[in-house]
Amino acid sequence: MMAELTIGIDIGGTKIACVLVDTTGKIYAQQRLPTNPADGADAVISRIVQGIRAMQDAAIGHTLAGVGIGAPGHVDAVQGMVRNAVNLHWLDVPLKAELKRFITLPIQIGNDVVALMAGETVLGAARGAQNLVYLAVGTGLGGAAITGGRIVSGANHFAVEVGHIALHPGGRRCGCGGLGCTEMYVSGKGILAGLEAHRAQFPTSDLANQTNATTADVLNAAKNGDALAQAIMAEAREALVQAITWSAGILNAELIVIGGGMARAAREYFVTGIEETVKTRLMSPVTSVLRVITPELEDPAIGAACLVWLAARQ
Ligand SMILES: [Zn+2]
Repeated sequence: MMAELTIGIDIGGTKIACVLVDTTGKIYAQQRLPTNPADGADAVISRIVQGIRAMQDAAIGHTLAGVGIGAPGHVDAVQGMVRNAVNLHWLDVPLKAELKRFITLPIQIGNDVVALMAGETVLGAARGAQNLVYLAVGTGLGGAAITGGRIVSGANHFAVEVGHIALHPGGRRCGCGGLGCTEMYVSGKGILAGLEAHRAQFPTSDLANQTNATTADVLNAAKNGDALAQAIMAEAREALVQAITWSAGILNAELIVIGGGMARAAREYFVTGIEETVKTRLMSPVTSVLRVITPELEDPAIGAACLVWLAARQ
């Protein structure tokens, strides 16, 4: 039977994930190609084209609605530009215009967190929601939102980037050049920065005396009752509560979706009881509709494919 399909492409620092899906999320084909960003943007773009063509071949006999692309970093969805993607070493790459030279299908571009949010909204845990915030707690802290059914982009396509709002002005130095960014308190980077910041206060902690500790070491130590690790995680949780409270309160969101690898690894800090804590800080017109949930899909390539269907609704 003929189905309407879309192609999703997730451009990561190490691999380009390609997928062909229908409107129910059924996968018809998928492929992974190496990114090798050191080869330069042109080489990466030609591998993306190769991936799209492979998906087009697999779609023969079906209708193709378009291609959705998730790219890391600061992405201008209107111009189709990747403004700044640190792990690809890209600055102002006109991705959509370059792809249009080879691909005639409609193309939608978003950053990777927007793509994950699109996936949850179209096929996942946030199906049907018109007002939601997606926070991705991973190595860094990413954010995206939909309000009135539309993706919030802002004047410079940097809306809801709560990771780079100063939570503690003058605080920990962030990779963006700022001081005290929220990401430096709640994310993989934030947890390791917390270890450095608090190590000296807990001289008897095993974790304090461990060299080259990872976020997994901090989480394990917290589970085993290490006071330093528990202080770091309590601080990280509070930073996340703040980020959720501001974004939920400003947008009157009905759903907050907490995704990302760190949130999965540390659910008891970043998910459990968070909704209740947030609700103590907001008024009833906000709290009466607000729910904090975790993603069902969390697949960036399928999410990218969903950018096409999300755009079709707008
Ligand atoms: Zn920052």
